[in-house]
Amino acid sequence: MSASQTSDVPTLLVKIFGRDRPGLTAGLFDTLAAYSVDVVDIEQVVTRGRITLCALVTEPPHGLAGDLRVTVHGWAQSMKMQAEIISGHGDNRPRGVGRSLVTVLGHPLTAESTAGIASRITAVGGNIDRIFRLAKYPVTAVEFAVSGASTEALRTELATASAALGVDIAVVSAGLHRRAQRLVVMDVDSTLIQDEVIELFAAHAGCEEQVAEVTAAAMGGELDFEQSLHARVALLAGLDASVVEKVRSEVRLTPGARTLIRTLKRLGYQVGVVSGGFTQVTDDLKERLGLDFAQANTLEIVDGKLTGRVTGEIVDRAGKARLLRRFAAEAGVPLSQTVAIGDGANDLDMLNAAGLGVAFNAKPVVREAAHTAVNVPFLDTVLYLLGVTRDEVEAADIHDEDSVQV
Ligand SMILES: [Mg+2]
Repeated sequence: MSASQTSDVPTLLVKIFGRDRPGLTAGLFDTLAAYSVDVVDIEQVVTRGRITLCALVTEPPHGLAGDLRVTVHGWAQSMKMQAEIISGHGDNRPRGVGRSLVTVLGHPLTAESTAGIASRITAVGGNIDRIFRLAKYPVTAVEFAVSGASTEALRTELATASAALGVDIAVVSAGLHRRAQRLVVMDVDSTLIQDEVIELFAAHAGCEEQVAEVTAAAMGGELDFEQSLHARVALLAGLDASVVEKVRSEVRLTPGARTLIRTLKRLGYQVGVVSGGFTQVTDDLKERLGLDFAQANTLEIVDGKLTGRVTGEIVDRAGKARLLRRFAAEAGVPLSQTVAIGDGANDLDMLNAAGLGVAFNAKPVVREAAHTAVNVPFLDTVLYLLGVTRDEVEAADIHDEDSVQV
């Protein structure tokens, strides 16, 4: 342990504030260098062109602290900056046990909801160590690094508050665990895509309304999924197989879906989909989007017509959780490091089995049971819950465009 890390060593907190421009940090440390001080801690933030630079340094030897003050103030004045120098001892207080990251998505993020979040963090014994904006588009995403409270306690306190506060909040444990997340598994209907695929088929069969009623009951958890699947598929009997191609072309991706998948792939994640819909559509999506895994039910087609039956393993609520485990095993990723995203009651087992379960614009029954909920209609906002910043997304896109031109 160096001298500057012990709590009784005199230290100076040097803070400068003002209009940001090149050379400020170099200028301050050039000024400090004349006094042979060591840097204990340093933080710099730029907000709307204003810089706040804080340096915690050891007190200079030979009683030169007063001289340092005068010199730093003089330098700051010449740069039209405000300076503050506070004497004290040692380093920052040790942070409390338990590190979590609280990510807040606001659309907009109001001062009132920010106050509510901060007071709830305090209420469970948490201390906010750092606040950082991840994104300003398409939502305002802010990450709070919190110590002193358990992730579970924060999750419980903030999950119940998010609806009242009008924001989406995700709480994850900080540290290496999050960086190790390497598999994202998504539901398809009303998650990856805006449509319910069976309703697209039903429109061609002229039974859209009947199917939509059964779908709503199943997704709200009022009806057993497998029963509802068989009942709905039976209504499609006799439909010409050529509608498969039409339905594929009608599918509308959710805004942000391509950005989410492209960015995840670039970061080294494996990405899969599980669907209570049909392989006739998910196989196509897998191909188009470069997904690693896709599994769904298969519509039986005999002599160029849909028979009104499905074949193979049924992908229902339990099936989706089973597939998450299977994909994780194949990807070599522990279940605790997976992320699952879905909107329906048949996604709940999968959401709860994953390390992070995200209810995406979900039915209330799903929203209440999941780890976290996203209620803005942009799928790429899930990236912020994983700690990816908008700048990183855009920088990678620019890099890709450059690559294409080469
Ligand atoms: Mg769905």
